[in-house]
Amino acid sequence: MKPRPAARPSGAARDARRLLRPLEAEIVRLARALVRVDSVAVPPGGHETAAQLVLRGLLKPYRLDVEMYDTGFLERSRHPYVRRDRRYAGRHNLIARLPGQGRGRSLLLSGHVDTVPVGRDPWRISPWSGAVRKGRLHGRGSWDMKGGLAAQFAVAMALARAGVRLGGDVLCESVVDEEFAGCGGTLAGRLRGDNADACAIAEGTNHEVVRATRGGHFFDVTCRAGDPMAYFSKKEVVSPAVPAGRLLGWVDGWARRRQKVRRGGTYRDFPDPAPVQVLAVEANRFDRDVPWSVPLVARLRVYFQFLPHEDVGARVRDIEASLRAFCRKDPFFRRHPVKIEPLVHPPLLGHELPADHPWTRCLHGAAARVLGARTRLSASEWPCDAFLVQREFGIPTLLFGPRGAGSHNANEYVYVDSILRTAEVYLAAALEWCG
Ligand SMILES: [Zn+2]
Repeated sequence: MKPRPAARPSGAARDARRLLRPLEAEIVRLARALVRVDSVAVPPGGHETAAQLVLRGLLKPYRLDVEMYDTGFLERSRHPYVRRDRRYAGRHNLIARLPGQGRGRSLLLSGHVDTVPVGRDPWRISPWSGAVRKGRLHGRGSWDMKGGLAAQFAVAMALARAGVRLGGDVLCESVVDEEFAGCGGTLAGRLRGDNADACAIAEGTNHEVVRATRGGHFFDVTCRAGDPMAYFSKKEVVSPAVPAGRLLGWVDGWARRRQKVRRGGTYRDFPDPAPVQVLAVEANRFDRDVPWSVPLVARLRVYFQFLPHEDVGARVRDIEASLRAFCRKDPFFRRHPVKIEPLVHPPLLGHELPADHPWTRCLHGAAARVLGARTRLSASEWPCDAFLVQREFGIPTLLFGPRGAGSHNANEYVYVDSILRTAEVYLAAALEWCG
């Protein structure tokens, strides 16, 4: 059965448009300002604070209750999702609070301000330009997810500007350390008690209301086999490069097996519901300063995704056991054992919120009224920190965000108009949800 959004004509969507219209230039300015400031976070660190200061500065005229706080306290927390190999001291989350009248449901609008690095591929327009061309805002983090973040804070700006006090609290937060399977910023917010009756994360969903996400596990497989002293000697030169190809075959076998996984409702129509990818393969480099030599080390970076209903811990154990069994059967790997190292532990889990949950109906309904009745309720092609909010802290969580492209690649952009529509959807949903 296709869930249908509640289709009654709504004053909330009209009110949202009316409240946001005078702010449109300001919302675009905020999104551009955020893109222009470098908030790249490569583990173990991240320098997101400059972006939080820009955000705080642009929120200042609205006289909101805004707090910036250091997430360094995570390093003393025993929560299993604190990534022990990362540093948090000096990295700041920001939260804006709009207290309600105490009679309605509360809402948390959350987004990450950290971005992945710009990468090595060339960009047509500088990743830090924040340039707007043909309706697209260009730059690193524009779609993932500073555009969505600006749309969420627009809700607080619009309500504050109009002096509207809702029944329940609205919290808008900008967090650190989401990329590279971080979870730290989101976790910090939840642990300090910035919680609500529902949550939405403004990742770039191309205006689909996403009610399910996949889990993810990342690991490196390394084989050190060569002996540098063997070169130009009487010994045979041993290379791990061709055996690494056999490891790729093992990955390929899993990729085919995982296509037959029980899909569950939300991922029923996905051509590849639980993808298995190789993120990197290395055995020597093509750099000009590397002599022509047989590689000593070969390694693979592998990425498995899991469906919301799967027991991720058990699946990860199956995968490792399978890799060890594969290597035991291979004479080369018996002689030169591989090392398996997870990049993050524990892995990211998936999550799912029912289609008929009141929060799903509210946000999907608001999206349908602002964007049209064909607005899709769907599931994401990637993992994120939504599972942490919902599964660890019991807060029903959806994703909804603007249209764009190029996330985690060169030439990332977001459609400016879709940022404004995203803000309208969020404000309409807040008006209804919080009362
Ligand atoms: Zn993101």
